[in-house]
Amino acid sequence: MPLQQAYSAAIFRQQAHTLVDMLADYLEAAQSQALQTVIPYRTPEENLVFWQQDFNQGVGDVNSFFDEVIRQSTHIHHPRYMGHQVSPPLPISALTGLLAELLNNGMAVYEMGLVSNPLERILSDLLAQKIGFDSSSGGFLTSGGTLANLTALLAARAVKAPTDVWEQGTSQHLAVMVSEEAHYCIDRAARIMGMGSKGIIKVPTNDRFQMRTECLEEYYQKAQLEGLTVIAVIGSACSTSTGAYDNLLAIAEFCRQHKLWFHIDGAHGGAVAFSKKYKSLVNGIESADSVVIDWHKMLMTPALATALIFKNEKDAFKTFHQKAQYLWANQGSEEWYNSGKRTFECTKLMMSVKIYAILKSYGERILEENVDTLHDLAKAFVDLLKANPLFELAIEPQSNIVCFRYIGQETNPERYNTINATIRQRLLEDGAFYVVQTTLRDKLYLRVSLMNPLTTINDLKTLLTTIDTIAQEIM
Ligand SMILES: *Cc1c(COP(=O)(O)O)cnc(C)c1O
Repeated sequence: MPLQQAYSAAIFRQQAHTLVDMLADYLEAAQSQALQTVIPYRTPEENLVFWQQDFNQGVGDVNSFFDEVIRQSTHIHHPRYMGHQVSPPLPISALTGLLAELLNNGMAVYEMGLVSNPLERILSDLLAQKIGFDSSSGGFLTSGGTLANLTALLAARAVKAPTDVWEQGTSQHLAVMVSEEAHYCIDRAARIMGMGSKGIIKVPTNDRFQMRTECLEEYYQKAQLEGLTVIAVIGSACSTSTGAYDNLLAIAEFCRQHKLWFHIDGAHGGAVAFSKKYKSLVNGIESADSVVIDWHKMLMTPALATALIFKNEKDAFKTFHQKAQYLWANQGSEEWYNSGKRTFECTKLMMSVKIYAILKSYGERILEENVDTLHDLAKAFVDLLKANPLFELAIEPQSNIVCFRYIGQETNPERYNTINATIRQRLLEDGAFYVVQTTLRDKLYLRVSLMNPLTTINDLKTLLTTIDTIAQEIM
């Protein structure tokens, strides 16, 4: 096909209609559960062979390619998807993704984000207001919680390190304090920043997997004696494995006393700031210096779209001070509209339009409704588990993440890990549900994140009977 024709508007129109029809059919089938597989599991080798053969066939029909992609992917919109913390994106938001990707305005400089830069500003201000920050706050969107946490810690270093590490390199051994349950990306960020394993001070957790904030002082003193310069404490809101919220008020007070940066990793749970019913889980969030919230977790947006909000917007401009004359004429100034001055990304997706489309269509209320629905559903599931002697709950959950295990008639606790690992593998291969597993203090648990507001308590009842049936077969 000639190059010009590949850009044909007429072909695009026709292909887009076909694709949207296919996606709508998929949504219908997944949501009504006419589609029975949540995950069409095959081994990595099997999948590679399939696609290698397809690739070797060369140019072909793109519609059948689309069809295979839909059929062979994990179906996040299926009500029995309850695995990792990925949102089933609202269709309007995904559709806006098509708009954004065709327009492809690359964000880094104002002229390349005429729409998306101001929208990003408006959305950051909205989140700042939800968090409880005042008008000196501000932030931006970036590609995922992992990158946002690293960006926040770089800002923390720029503000709190005794010397200018950006210009002079490290001369002190810097450190951060974080709960042992924190997401692994915090550990990565600290190592990337040269802190090494010594510089990641892991504070132990209590029986609900929350940071034991009463230990902060002792660990801090010990770090100082060892010659470490602590710059920040990171609170998890919530942790990934169990959905435990750290005591943010206590961490805030500790940071205030020691003049440390207080960062909150609210990638998953920061979304409760939208909920009247559940926002007390993040009491103290307004005292943070920086907060990360993923729009693509509980806020119904396709990945990736992560907010990083600073209590003092000026801090955000301290992260990267670097010259790129071809991009920005005015290097030193703090311009919110030149996205790339504050983000890792140079070219960046137009994330804000996908979020804005949700608010434009349904208002903020839908975000609150989603957070409430998912949390309420988790509570109902916990009641089911408590009433069923075949199962054991790991901890009383605070969020929409529930960890539990099958006990059944088994009296030897040493067998519980193997039994539950086998159950999980069977669920994966059967494909009718998607749940994951996690190990907490050497005990293996099944783990669900209730991310789909269309999941019902009946789906969860069926999950438990399915697990029991599998268990009967394997025990
Ligand atoms: C998901 C998650 C992350 C990582 O965010 P990505 O957007 O996947 O990069 C970090 N911290 C917590 C607490 C999370 O739940």
